[in-house]
Amino acid sequence: GLKARDVTARRTIGGIDITHPDRVIFPQDGFTKGDLAAYYHAIAPVMLPFAAGRPVSLLRCPDGVAGVCFFQKHGDGFGSHVDTVSIVEKDGDTGDYLSIRDADGVLACVQMGTVEFHGWGARADAVEAPDRLVFDLDPDEGLDFTAVTRAARQVRERLSALGLASFAMLTGGKGIHVIAPLTPGHGWADHAAFAKHIAGSMALDKPDRFVATMSKAKRKGRIFIDWLRNQRGNSAILPYSVRARAGAPVAAPVGWGELETIGQAQLYSIADAPHLIERARSGALRGWGTARQSLPTG
Ligand code: ATP
Ligand code: MN
Repeated sequence: GLKARDVTARRTIGGIDITHPDRVIFPQDGFTKGDLAAYYHAIAPVMLPFAAGRPVSLLRCPDGVAGVCFFQKHGDGFGSHVDTVSIVEKDGDTGDYLSIRDADGVLACVQMGTVEFHGWGARADAVEAPDRLVFDLDPDEGLDFTAVTRAARQVRERLSALGLASFAMLTGGKGIHVIAPLTPGHGWADHAAFAKHIAGSMALDKPDRFVATMSKAKRKGRIFIDWLRNQRGNSAILPYSVRARAGAPVAAPVGWGELETIGQAQLYSIADAPHLIERARSGALRGWGTARQSLPTG
């Protein structure tokens, strides 16, 4: 009857009404919008330290990941739990970017069909002062994942030689992101130049393994070290975001030690929330993603 339909038509998770919680978002796995909301509600306490207070881009898939998905970085209509930040864009116009501050903000985005959360490398209250480097390792098709883990280790070593601690994250897609948090205090031009220098020097040293330019042709059998994530206005997938792919994988922080034995970037899914939370709060990931360090000068 009407009552039974009402029950499945909406479910309150946190402080947000999730409509159509039984709508299947991951058709290959059966995960629903309600499952997605429950995952984000559970993971919010460990995700928010990385996601809150920065401009975000959302990948929305209102009809599920097999339907049309689209990136959204501007907007309103997300309700009072999602903030907007005015940012001057490349063309000189001002855009209202989205930013979240709490679990209800995350859920308000999920209610709007969001599957993935991508973030700027700067905080919304200081958008001209980047606070983390991201090296996005994109392997050519067919490359073994051990080549990616080796590359991640080499990025880490390069950064370490310059005094920077870094952290590894499985993207939930094909590759690894190596992330170095930074105390703000430099601008985007220096930020991008530093990242380009690291990627370029690795490609110069090992041209058979790495490329630092986007060209698909040059990638043959190599890993593209995408440093362009470090340019103003670009984003990277946020830790613990779900990916809009079969299996509902998530972007998952990992320790350098354990990375040695990991054979794929899609190790965890939305079914693993309790495990991911436990990992975030226990030994292997203690301190993951935080370090007090500045961009080297000179
Ligand atoms: P994978 O490991 O499969 O490469 P990834 O998240 O690194 O996963 P990429 O395709 O390498 O995916 O893209 C790197 C980042 O660039 C993404 O995390 C995302 O934040 C950003 N990005 C890619 N395409 C777009 C787009 N069309 N609009 C906005 N941001 C994008
Ligand atoms: Mn990538």
